[in-house]
Amino acid sequence: MQRCKAKSKRSGEQCKNYAIKGYGVCRMHGAHGGPKTREGYFACKKAPHKHGLYSYEALQDLKECSNLIKQNRCTIREKFMKENYS
Ligand SMILES: [Zn+2]
Repeated sequence: MQRCKAKSKRSGEQCKNYAIKGYGVCRMHGAHGGPKTREGYFACKKAPHKHGLYSYEALQDLKECSNLIKQNRCTIREKFMKENYS
C-alpha cells in the first residue's frame, strides 16, 4: 500500500499514514472531499450554480427591490401625512 506523500511542516518528515487510493495522501492530508485531479478541479469551478440565489445578479435585484420598497414607504407616508395633516 502506498504511503502518504505529505510532509510535516514542523519536522519535515514524510507522513507515514497509508494513502487513500487515487489521492496519494492520507485521510488527514486532504484525501476525500474535493476533486482529485487538476481537470476535476476546473470542472468543479465551471459547474453551474445550485440555485443562483446568491449570484451577483440576484443580489442586485434584491437591492433594487428593497430600495423601491423604501422609496415607496416614504411616498406613501408623505401622501398620508398630506391628506390627513394638512
Ligand atoms: Zn498524511
